[in-house]
Amino acid sequence: MNKQFFDVAIIGGGPAGLAAALSARKAGAKQVVILERDVELGGILQQCIHNGFGLHRFQEELTGPGYAGRFVRMVRADTGITVYTEAMVLEVAKDKTIWAVSPTLGLIQLSARAVIFAMGCRERTRGAIRIPGYRPAGVFTAGAAQRMVNMEGFLPGKNIVILGSGDIGLIMARRMTLEGAKVQAVVELMPFSNGLTRNVVQCLEDFAIPLHLSHTITFVHGRERVTGVSVAAVDANRCIVPGSEFYLPCDCLLLSVGLIPENELSRAMDICLDGLTNGPVVDQYRQTCVSGFFAAGNVVHVHDLVDFVSEEGDIAGRSAALFANGELPLEKQYINVKAETGIRTVVPQRISLPTAAGEKVRLFMRAQEPLTRSTLTITTTAGKLVERKLPVAKPGEMIVADISTEKISPDSQEIIVTLLPQSLGGA
Ligand SMILES: Cc1cc2nc3c(=O)[nH]c(=O)nc-3n(C[C@H](O)[C@H](O)[C@H](O)COP(=O)(O)OP(=O)(O)OC[C@H]3O[C@@H](n4cnc5c(N)ncnc54)[C@H](O)[C@@H]3O)c2cc1C
Repeated sequence: MNKQFFDVAIIGGGPAGLAAALSARKAGAKQVVILERDVELGGILQQCIHNGFGLHRFQEELTGPGYAGRFVRMVRADTGITVYTEAMVLEVAKDKTIWAVSPTLGLIQLSARAVIFAMGCRERTRGAIRIPGYRPAGVFTAGAAQRMVNMEGFLPGKNIVILGSGDIGLIMARRMTLEGAKVQAVVELMPFSNGLTRNVVQCLEDFAIPLHLSHTITFVHGRERVTGVSVAAVDANRCIVPGSEFYLPCDCLLLSVGLIPENELSRAMDICLDGLTNGPVVDQYRQTCVSGFFAAGNVVHVHDLVDFVSEEGDIAGRSAALFANGELPLEKQYINVKAETGIRTVVPQRISLPTAAGEKVRLFMRAQEPLTRSTLTITTTAGKLVERKLPVAKPGEMIVADISTEKISPDSQEIIVTLLPQSLGGA
């Protein structure tokens, strides 16, 4: 058994973990380790071979592997960063001892001064949404199908129905079409798509693939292999509209019905989780409620743009390095950031005081429902921090706003974020 000591240990070698490692080194961490369970670094980006990554970070349109490759090369070139691939972390203790298993090294045990969780997220499956019907072959999550097509060279089917219009579902509709399959339809429970507008246009409309909003799948047919699905309309309460059912023949059903941040390790350590993001509650340094444990990327909240994942990795890496060197300001008090009317989630969920002079904090928010012509307002007891008009706000597209911490004092009880239609009093 190996036992080693590091300044910063990072669990997960996706874009969040890679950015965190580089940023930790830049901020003064001498020895950093990345533990990644997959055979290579890069996380889920390795299977995302379409372009559109890196517009913010590099002002270029890269593929997923292209974007990840830029970070992987820098990590591999840095002798202060140790990388263990095929190393699955099984347990983390509050004293920052980490246990992982690897097929080549056996049990790995290491200790760190600071730990960053960057484990990403996984997909919800058929079991999680309980679609009635038989249990034939041919039902996959969209991400599993993406891996099969893009990395393993298999087509999961030729006649496809997709349930869920999040980004992965939309991208797979285009991918399967380009591979010669017929995509019958994308079926979405909500009255709006949960994906980026650009993906609705480029992946569905450009290929004339029907999108059935406010519809769901009520039955999966076929005993050995999927032969079709029953689809029905739903009302405003998401109840089936009687008589609206129709049948779509298919040999493959892809599910893109949500992502779940991978927080088994966080939960086992009693790290406080946010019931809406399903990720750890973090402050502006991405420090969790357990001192010296940080988190970044999809494990905190599901992102739509990888550029923001890297940005969060930068913050967590820098903060962890400062913590390891005893330079991170010790929090004396927290001010909670609360999502109210019109906003579903906000990260970070709290600001720790004191803040540095001139410090700015970037808030990442998701709208509750689509709104045109709305006003985003961020207030404290001392007054408005931000008021911004948004021509369009959609749950599928992260809203980002920077707040200056100058107006946040120990007396500010909380920071409230709202998104109101301009017709209802939003300025
Ligand atoms: C299936 C899927 C497809 C996606 N497709 C797209 C897309 O096409 N376009 C797009 O913009 N975004 C896509 N995304 C969003 C994408 O996840 C993010 O943009 C970004 O990759 C998240 O980065 P991350 O580092 O937080 O997580 P990830 O990229 O998921 O990386 C997390 C890493 O942690 C590792 N890990 C987890 N647990 C452990 C453990 N216990 N021990 C060791 N290692 C561990 C995982 O193996 C993984 O490599 C997709 C997401 C999913 C889940």
